[in-house]
Amino acid sequence: MSNNSSPRLPVFAIERHRLTTDGQGVSTLVGAYGCTLACRYCINPHAWNSDTLKKCVSFTPETLYERVRQDELYFLATGGGITFGGGESLLHAEFIRAFRQVCGRRWRLTVETSLQIPSERLEMTLDSVDEYIVDIKDLEPETYLAYTGMPIDRLLANLRILSSRIASPPQGGAPVSVHIRVPLIPGYNTPKQLQTSAEKLRSMGFSHIETFPYVLK
Ligand code: SF4
Repeated sequence: MSNNSSPRLPVFAIERHRLTTDGQGVSTLVGAYGCTLACRYCINPHAWNSDTLKKCVSFTPETLYERVRQDELYFLATGGGITFGGGESLLHAEFIRAFRQVCGRRWRLTVETSLQIPSERLEMTLDSVDEYIVDIKDLEPETYLAYTGMPIDRLLANLRILSSRIASPPQGGAPVSVHIRVPLIPGYNTPKQLQTSAEKLRSMGFSHIETFPYVLK
């Protein structure tokens, strides 16, 4: 049952029946409003445009569960579930943690994130999220700042938190899965920089690293 203190999620899109594009199995993508970055080639500007917020539908964990549970059979049969995207999904860490309480452990919960959030928000979700899909942009500080408008420190601090969680999973807890996306960004980084970022990530203990070029339209 919802109450006035339930966190609310401003949602601009719910896309059902996504297969392998946003994590494992069949998933429903829940796009939530808000972002902490200002990427030069933002692929999702409506995630932070204030006009979008006026059109968002707001859910509590309970009402979102009622809205998406029609696909539970698909989730259970394929090991899928809900992917929280945006924008920056971890701005809504309280909501994600509360949603886990409502949906139980059998749905896979994935978040798409830039990790550009205070570390407490990441830590708040560690026992609730099965997989983090991290778009890091670039690990070279000046390139990161030029492309996103933000210093890189928070991203690095949060990568270290995920890395230590991989190295020392909690006793009896499920190991966290981290998929890191490293783009080649026209005009901002080079194939050599991209490889340097990937090597740094490997040295931090990450193994699921995807490199790909941004294609500008
Ligand atoms: S993190 Fe995503 S939504 Fe936010 S500015 Fe960058 S590309 Fe756009």
